[in-house]
Amino acid sequence: MDFDFRPDKLKEECGVFGIYNCDNHDVAHLTYYGLYALQHRGQESAGIAVNDNGTILYQKDMGLVPEVFNDVVLNHLKGKIAIGHVRYSTTGASLRENAQPMVIKYKNGQMALAHNGNLVNAGELRERLEEEGAIFQSTADSEVILSLISRLRISSEGIEEAIVKMMKQVEGSYALAILTPKRLIGIRDPLGIRPLCIGKLDNSYVLASETCALDAVGAEFLRDVNPGEVVLIGDDGITSIQTEVARESRLCIFEFVYFARPDSFIDGASVHDARIEAGKKLAREYPVEADIVIGAPDSGLSAALGYSMESGIPYGQGLLKNRYIGRTFIQPQQGQRETGVRIKFNVLKSAVKGKRVVLVDDSIVRGTTTRRIVQMLKDAGATEVHMRVSSPPLKYPCYFGIDISSRKELVASKHTVEEIKDLICADSLGYLSLDGLLGSPAGSGGGFCDACLTGNYPMDVPEEANKFSCG
Ligand code: AMP
Repeated sequence: MDFDFRPDKLKEECGVFGIYNCDNHDVAHLTYYGLYALQHRGQESAGIAVNDNGTILYQKDMGLVPEVFNDVVLNHLKGKIAIGHVRYSTTGASLRENAQPMVIKYKNGQMALAHNGNLVNAGELRERLEEEGAIFQSTADSEVILSLISRLRISSEGIEEAIVKMMKQVEGSYALAILTPKRLIGIRDPLGIRPLCIGKLDNSYVLASETCALDAVGAEFLRDVNPGEVVLIGDDGITSIQTEVARESRLCIFEFVYFARPDSFIDGASVHDARIEAGKKLAREYPVEADIVIGAPDSGLSAALGYSMESGIPYGQGLLKNRYIGRTFIQPQQGQRETGVRIKFNVLKSAVKGKRVVLVDDSIVRGTTTRRIVQMLKDAGATEVHMRVSSPPLKYPCYFGIDISSRKELVASKHTVEEIKDLICADSLGYLSLDGLLGSPAGSGGGFCDACLTGNYPMDVPEEANKFSCG
């Protein structure tokens, strides 16, 4: 099989943040720190919009949070309410105009929106809106949401009603932070596919994709936004609307597997604990005799620890990840392909030499990186490499915001476990069972969207679903 070289072939989705200031906080700086904590959810663009007495000021650009903002810019962004966004797009639309927050001026003033997720009927809605005369500045599905709200607002009593009507029309996943002249609004899609939580900082309120961003700004966690819930934050505190579109929770299981930071809690469950539990179950399902358990940094580390705890095989650090490889890293040319992985990861030779190694990772997508890491471990003197994966084979595309858009890119959609074992040159390979994975996040009351593992999509997913996408 020909393994393409794309070290960062699949990327994270988006992160959103918002703050409504009831104290003397500097909302732009706090949003900047919040976005820093959410940087793992998207590295392509970053942006902050603030409301300064009804006028929205904003800055957004391609790049990492510290590349887009400095003190001068942040000092300029004065206001009472702020929202922020970090983005990675799933389709080819890696453009500045698709960076968020998206800002519009319409009949009722200005409005800004930050979106994490992906609509599956954005193409259809956009066509209809364009026929009605709407003009779009970007190719992102998020603009469709904004356009819909602004149009529906005209025939509605207030923004609340317009939002509820919008939620009846859009299909897909969305965790939204919206900035209006008077309010900060948080919305979670009817299935709660993407996470969103509320925090409190003194008397001020914060919205964030993950609790790690609340921690970063010193806010206390209040609660998660419910599936299908709209929270409106204003001078009078929080008002909640439980819309009738709300359904049973189907949080994306990949948040626990890969996306979220281990120090976050989502819908009541600790991401780190869920990964440890998955690692323990993996050890029970696929035991092996070995001398050391190592994790693939960073998302495989917690599961590796769990595997070690359960199996009694010592945990060690066997791989080192270079943390400074960013967006601007110049990809090696053909013929230097191995270089890319070697620059990104290196083996701690003394830790693995002469040893039977259990290598734990959270997932195998294309198999490219995994095969190279296995090879590097063997080159460094590991006598055996047993690959253990803390989630089931990834076989189906995701239409809800994770960049697993094409089935043919997924090694497990075309090959059996035995074949994948041979392709990655491992001595054995074991994937955690679906039941094992779904039972790992303790305390999370709801169900999960596991469509990328099972093909059971929680809604109809048309072919053109990925045409317009936030990421
Ligand atoms: P590969 O062997 O090339 O399939 O790469 C496997 C690695 O990809 C694992 O370490 C995963 O943590 C990582 N991974 C899983 N899902 C994604 C994703 N959506 N974006 C980027 N990396 C991912």
